[in-house]
Amino acid sequence: MQDWMKEAPLVIQSGNGAVIKDHKGHAYLDANASIWTNLHGHNHPKINRAIEGQLRKISHSSALGYANEPASYLAAELITETKLNKSGRKSLTNESKNVQFRRQPKLAKVFFSDDGSTAMEVALKLHHQHTRRSRPEIKPRYLSLENSYHGDTVGAMSLSHSPLFHEPFSKIRFPVDRVMAPYCYRCPYNRAKPTRKDARDSRKCQWECIGQIEKKIEKATQQKKPYTAFVLEPLVQGAAGMIPHPIGYLSKAEKLVRQHGLQLIADEVLTGFGRTGSMIASHQEGVQPDFLSLAKGLTGGYLPMAATLTTQSVFDSFLGPYESFKTFFHGHSFTGNQLGSAAALKNLEILRSSQSIQRRQKLADWFNGALEALWKIPQVGDIRQIGLIAGIELVKDWSTRDAFPLKRQAGIRVCRAMEKRGVLTRPVGNVIVIVLIYTMTRKQVVAITKALAESIHEVLSES
Ligand code: PMP
Repeated sequence: MQDWMKEAPLVIQSGNGAVIKDHKGHAYLDANASIWTNLHGHNHPKINRAIEGQLRKISHSSALGYANEPASYLAAELITETKLNKSGRKSLTNESKNVQFRRQPKLAKVFFSDDGSTAMEVALKLHHQHTRRSRPEIKPRYLSLENSYHGDTVGAMSLSHSPLFHEPFSKIRFPVDRVMAPYCYRCPYNRAKPTRKDARDSRKCQWECIGQIEKKIEKATQQKKPYTAFVLEPLVQGAAGMIPHPIGYLSKAEKLVRQHGLQLIADEVLTGFGRTGSMIASHQEGVQPDFLSLAKGLTGGYLPMAATLTTQSVFDSFLGPYESFKTFFHGHSFTGNQLGSAAALKNLEILRSSQSIQRRQKLADWFNGALEALWKIPQVGDIRQIGLIAGIELVKDWSTRDAFPLKRQAGIRVCRAMEKRGVLTRPVGNVIVIVLIYTMTRKQVVAITKALAESIHEVLSES
């Protein structure tokens, strides 16, 4: 904060497509999709019109005890859009095609809230109360991944293990066990030497990360304190530094989770709505969670809104006579907001169009091609792309994987140099994060990676 106070902030005034402008009229490419939220570009005429149309009817009315049209339609659309056979098996990778599919839960109900943190808070509280009712003999207990980030509210923080974000609040977090997360580039079990390709593809290991989940779950069961839920960001850990999991990790983890009777809570706040190549990231490995949290891209990135989907059986555990107070006592003032719902309905319509689907596929290929050029840079240690997301990890020297000292602020300085070149993004430590807007052109994608290459050269080539 102290450093940030030293300079006048960049004041964003307008946006169109993938370009945003500041108050001085400078144009920038929005290379992190406005903190991973924007899908189809700013000022999209169709989303604007949908919001304007709703604005003329009503902007917001309470959903506590009342329904409204756009939110009800949206709930129905979300149930359809998140069916496993809809976006799942079609997009399966070769390795996951060999996976034996297990019976998966059916998502049937939607709870609306306001942002990613509340979507996770809702999943946590639904699981908690459902477990206490359906398995009164045990206490709900959670297992989640090292460096995971599920939001900044107290429940979401408790599920997270991000030392940077949450260490100062350790005393107010409730205890949640942690297990190693796959991070092939810096994995102690990966015996492969550094190479000039994604560390996931050259790794030499024996899935020790999966072995550790198994050990943890078995130990907890033996001690008669079994876990009741496993929580993760499927396919890629975002705020940890855009760390995609090796293919097959999710389905292997899910198999263990199901074998031991845990529920699966999937945080798809970042990965939902096509970011990783399918509508729902978990579906790429044939997995349907018991709780699915969505936010960021739900409204195309236009308005704050979130949804937590779950099964009929979880829903049913909140039914009972009035005096039993089985109701889920959780509700936000802006739950089911009409403007957000109208934007979200339009977003889904655009996402489903063949034009958008084809464009996303092309964009991922262009992105892959443009990122390729960065391997030549000695300070690029790892380039990890998953769909329309990439993390580029900066190191002193790729052949040693040695990290830059914190004081050098490598990530921040490179992003500042990119800003001078008309590209905006935000690092996670020494990882440069790029999240593409789905309507970007090939030229814009190349401009982003070019600005990154030049910035690394400018900032980091002095030793
Ligand atoms: N989960 C994940 C995976 C996220 O990336 C984020 C935000 N970066 C959140 C939860 C929290 O979302 P929000 O900032 O909307 O509360």
